[in-house]
Amino acid sequence: MLENVRVVLIGTSHPGNIGSAARAMKTMGIHDLVLVTPDCEVDSHAVALSAGAADVVENITIYDCLEDAIADCQLVVGASARSRTLNWPMVGPREMAEKLVIEGQDKRVAMVFGRERTGLTNEELQRCHFHVNIPANPEYSSLNLAMAVQTLCYEVRMTLLAQKQWPKREQEYPLTAELERFYQHLETTLTQVEFIIASHPGQVMNKLRRFFNRARPESQELNILRGMLTSVDKAVQGIKRPQKKGSKPAE
Ligand code: SAH
Repeated sequence: MLENVRVVLIGTSHPGNIGSAARAMKTMGIHDLVLVTPDCEVDSHAVALSAGAADVVENITIYDCLEDAIADCQLVVGASARSRTLNWPMVGPREMAEKLVIEGQDKRVAMVFGRERTGLTNEELQRCHFHVNIPANPEYSSLNLAMAVQTLCYEVRMTLLAQKQWPKREQEYPLTAELERFYQHLETTLTQVEFIIASHPGQVMNKLRRFFNRARPESQELNILRGMLTSVDKAVQGIKRPQKKGSKPAE
């Protein structure tokens, strides 16, 4: 199961933190480390601080955007030191670990960590199914990046070790890439029917993302939603391109 756990670091600015995160992961049996737009080189300092986890550092994959880094994941959790105004589902480390262990049995899952100084942006947090907060000292709650990685990887390992058999999920959930295609389709259709005005998009898509994130449609349900949008698209095309006068109606 631990092979299916990915750690994503966004915009990391200290190579030492990348190395230390790699070490933290490997001690817990987790190896899949991904960087999104790092703000530093993965240099000898990173390798030095990884100690015996140079293999994790050597196998790092780097992406230009978060969507690509989590495209093949079924469940994504964003680690946040602060509770935001976003009103997104929030869990503690143990509850997070249980969800990751159950879904990570046969699907890839990811934990996403933010920049040392500014954490994750709201847009990045909205790409996650839920947020996890390590309930640290409320007056000083921001852990060092690698320490946060260590704490959450530890919880996943402890949860896994606590029980031999985890119930398998019967439902199939879409991967992040499939969900993103749905959101793009939804936005295109809603723009076509002028529910969303392209020059004033407002918060509609963010609110719809929150709604679908809460409902967590299964793969089959997402297919139905995509099919509905396609029917609307076809109907709109028909209205926009009325039949020419004199042409024979279809039999
Ligand atoms: N100053 C930043 C914190 C950056 S710490 C802020 O206020 O958001 C770097 C990263 O470590 C964070 O983006 C988060 O992913 C993780 N992290 C640090 N402390 C955490 C905590 N208490 N709970 C969950 N994640 C934490």
